[in-house]
Amino acid sequence: MPEMTLLSSDIQLDKKAPLANYTTFRLGGPCPVLLNCRTPQQLEQAVVYLSSQHIPFILIGGGSNLVVSDEGVDCHVIRYVNETPLIERDGDELIVAASTSLDALALYAAQAGLEGVNYTSGIPGTVGGAVVGNAGAFGRQIGDVLVSATLLTKAGIKKNVKAKDLGFRYRHSILKETEDIVVSVRLQVKPADSKKLLAERDETLALRKSKHPDLTTHPCAGSVFRNIEPTSKAGKRQATGWFLDQVGGCSLKHGGALIFDKHANIIVKGPGCKAQDVYELSQKMAALAKEKFNLDLVREIRMVGKFQGMPDGIQNIMW
Ligand SMILES: Cc1cc2nc3c(=O)[nH]c(=O)nc-3n(C[C@H](O)[C@H](O)[C@H](O)COP(=O)(O)OP(=O)(O)OC[C@H]3O[C@@H](n4cnc5c(N)ncnc54)[C@H](O)[C@@H]3O)c2cc1C
Repeated sequence: MPEMTLLSSDIQLDKKAPLANYTTFRLGGPCPVLLNCRTPQQLEQAVVYLSSQHIPFILIGGGSNLVVSDEGVDCHVIRYVNETPLIERDGDELIVAASTSLDALALYAAQAGLEGVNYTSGIPGTVGGAVVGNAGAFGRQIGDVLVSATLLTKAGIKKNVKAKDLGFRYRHSILKETEDIVVSVRLQVKPADSKKLLAERDETLALRKSKHPDLTTHPCAGSVFRNIEPTSKAGKRQATGWFLDQVGGCSLKHGGALIFDKHANIIVKGPGCKAQDVYELSQKMAALAKEKFNLDLVREIRMVGKFQGMPDGIQNIMW
């Protein structure tokens, strides 16, 4: 492996980094080198450097939507997260580094009296990860307010794209296929009463606390499967959790992987849990939903690396 002397010293390198330390599931083996990038400049430098050296890499944000294999990955990992929100206001738009946490974005906007992103309160992860998966809650999603994004290709070429070119649909953008990296985004907001926004935010946080696992005691990666798409235009999306409840719900488990007791579509890490247990439990859930309801559940969490029994022909490290 070439020495990374060309990288700026403020990109912190973590060799043989256990990826369990960088995911909310607290699962996953090591990668050879993890590059901690916080700012757009550091990110660009890291991507250009790795691509110029032909070093394969993947990029993660807050690791809140990932199940990393127990054996880890044999490529470098760029982690693009900043504890300090990097946000600038430009009239009724916010320019946000994709390393900013979603919750910090929501808090910034609520305090500044700007409406449009309050529903992201309490969703773990970064703005970048949210754009890739079109993250949302309460019927709203980040693609609805995204004006444009600055991207980097994996070869380090920068481009600006408009929202319409990102192919947003429910929990999806074309970035899942292109693997372009989100450096920063422009989001549309509009003036609103800050006190009202902060009160709404408190309600959202309380609601999430009552329904979602506490990551300090129940590590997880949120919903395992997407909700069920309507079969007609008039139809509504149906909660996958309801169907999973009918096929065993919280009583399902595999090894140390358990179902969260308040939500049948969330797997949590129990004692001795391995990433392989999570994969096998998710396969079991999908098989039961197919058998009883003829449903083809689509995974929302992303698998990273190799798992026993994974489908043949998968080329990507993240799938
Ligand atoms: C308790 C809990 C509750 C959750 N609730 C919700 C919810 O209400 N709604 C919802 O939509 N999701 C929810 N999630 C899932 C998750 O938090 C979101 O999908 C989040 O947006 C993922 O962001 P991340 O930075 O953690 O991405 P990661 O998990 O690190 O990565 C996810 C994918 O995004 C890619 N990615 C990350 N950053 C970038 C970037 N800058 N450029 C390009 N690609 C990037 C990665 O390569 C990977 O493919 C929840 C998760 C948990 C644990």
